[in-house]
This record gives sequence, structure tokens and C-alpha cells, in this order.
Amino acid sequence: QVKRGPGNRVLRYTPALSTAEAERRRLERELREAVEGSGLSLHYQPQFQLPSRQLTGYEALVRWNNPRLGPVSPASFIPIAEETGVIVELGYWVLREACRQAAAWKFAGRCLSMAVNVSVRQFEQPDFVERVVQALHGVGLPGSQLVLELTESLVLHDKDLANRHIMALRAHGIRIAIDDFGTGYSSLSLLRQLPFEQLKIDRSFIQDFAGETQAISFQEARVVMEGVTAIARGLGLHVTAEGVETEEQLQLLSDLGCDKVQGFLLGRPVPAAEAEVWLPEIGGPEAQGPGASAGPDA
Ligand code: C2E
Ligand code: MG
Ligand code: MG
Ligand code: MG
Repeated sequence: QVKRGPGNRVLRYTPALSTAEAERRRLERELREAVEGSGLSLHYQPQFQLPSRQLTGYEALVRWNNPRLGPVSPASFIPIAEETGVIVELGYWVLREACRQAAAWKFAGRCLSMAVNVSVRQFEQPDFVERVVQALHGVGLPGSQLVLELTESLVLHDKDLANRHIMALRAHGIRIAIDDFGTGYSSLSLLRQLPFEQLKIDRSFIQDFAGETQAISFQEARVVMEGVTAIARGLGLHVTAEGVETEEQLQLLSDLGCDKVQGFLLGRPVPAAEAEVWLPEIGGPEAQGPGASAGPDA
């Protein structure tokens, strides 16, 4: 087929292009195989309450160890999964596995929330709610322990459907968080259009505090965060900050009344066996991760 560049000029066929395309197709095929076989795994990143820094739960993050290439980042394979539709079955695999793990921890006496990322392509399937409920029932996990994270820009695709699904999920006690909040196109209008319960403020806003970005001063970054948390509180929404890497960021978020934090400072995503380090002992003392116990509040 003919490729066209700026000004509708026909681009010359280049071997480099076809190689990239062939590699992409190969990745797509391997990803499909990974979803159908046992090529995927999950890491769990802890989430902590503020100001207590107590563990409240985990976010499940998918990992792919490609036999040919080694570990591939979700940043490169999730977009491929989205475009090809593989994301739907990938998403259900993640959901089932995360629910299974949460149920296993629950039956060991450790009752925590499990957050699972859901793509809009999966969320818009007519039987989405049914399959989520099936995943819960399959392992005996109550809906109140499940949080579904939807990415903001994608939810707006079909607002009515999103509303119906969110209401149906809520009826099962399942909570909905808007992920990467602030990076989409209509953050503020979304707040009054969809009945979700939680906001996850995108990492880029948290990074502004550390002076890592040049676009905005520290003072301005703080004003933005103050505004977002004030609006969220006014609307009765629960606020989580993602990507917290420094004590300074954590302190500021705590001062602003942010409800929960997640980030490398307090805990990286790790396999289930390692994630158990943060879990409270059955009937024992409160959970304190290695990062949490280093803090002044702990
Ligand atoms: P996300 O849902 O916003 O997940 C948070 C990402 O930020 C994770 O990257 C996590 O490792 C990283 N992160 C957490 N704390 C920090 C920190 O303090 N500093 C920095 N620099 N990064 C931090 P990961 O695992 O590479 O996942 C990237 C994205 O891929 C996720 O962003 C999510 O949108 C998507 N994703 C991951 N797993 C799934 C899945 O099962 N289904 C779907 N649909 N998407 C997924
Ligand atoms: Mg997420
Ligand atoms: Mg996020
Ligand atoms: Mg993010």
C-alpha cells in the first residue's frame, strides 16, 4: 500500500519501515500467545493511607517476560494490546489473577483492597460488569475489596455506557478510580459527569514538586495540587497521589489532605511473594513497610 507524507507526497518504500512493521506484528503474535499461555505475571505496588502511612492495599501491574527479548515494559506492549484488541483478554487475565491473589491474602487473614487497571476497550464490552462479578465470585472475593482504575482520556469515549457500567459496578460494592487524573482532555467536566469515587493524580503533577520539570515553579505546582485536592474533597472524592518518590513530596501531599499515596519512596511494584513483606501479621501489629517505618509518622 502507498504511504503519504506531508503535502500528500508519496513516501518511498523503505526496508526500515517494513522491518519495524514486521517486528510489531511479531510482538503482537507473541503477546497473544503470552495471554493465552502463561507468559504474563503480576507485580503488586503497595498503597498507603495518609497521614498514618498504613498499608491499605495494592495495585496490580502486568509484566511480560518475552522469551526472545526478555522483560518488555507495559509502556510498549499495552499500546499494542490496545490497538489490536488483545487488551480485552489480557485485562481479564489480570483481573482474575489479581482477584485470586487478593482472595488468597484475605483467607490468610489479610483483608486489603486490590486495584486493577482496566482499558476502555475492555470496559466498553457489553458483558464487562458480568465478567468482573464472575471473577469475584470465582474466588470468593467481595466487591468492596476491588478498585477498578480507568484512564481518564479513554472513559469519555462513551459517557452513557460508562455511567451505566459504573452504577452497576457500584451496586456490587466495587469502587472506581480515574487513573492518571489531570492528563486527559476534560478533567474538570469529567468530575461532574461520571459517578466514580476516587481520583489518582498523575505522577507528572507530583514530579513538579521536586523541580524536575521546568514548565512550572514549585509554588505553581503547589497551587495546582491544592486546587485539585480541594475540588476532590468538596465533591466527596478520595484522592490518591501516584509516583511519590521523595519525603518532601510525601509531606506536602500529607499537608494538602491527600488520602493515599503510592510510589517508589514507600514501595516499588514487586512479585506477590515480596509484596507480602508489607502485609500485617494475622491478628498482629499494624502493617509497616520498609519505607513506611522510615518516616517520621511511623
Ligand atoms: P499506571 O496505572 O498509572 O501505573 C503506575 C505506573 O507508574 C507503573 O508503571 C508503576 O511502576 C509506575 N510507578 C509507580 N510508582 C512510581 C514512582 O514513584 N516513580 C516512577 N517514576 N514510576 C512509578 P508500569 O508498571 O510500567 O505501568 C505503566 C502503565 O501501564 C500503567 O500506568 C497502566 O496504565 C498500564 N498498565 C499496567 N498494567 C496494566 C494492566 O494490567 N492493564 C492495563 N489496561 N493497563 C496496565
Ligand atoms: Mg493504574
Ligand atoms: Mg496511574
Ligand atoms: Mg500514571
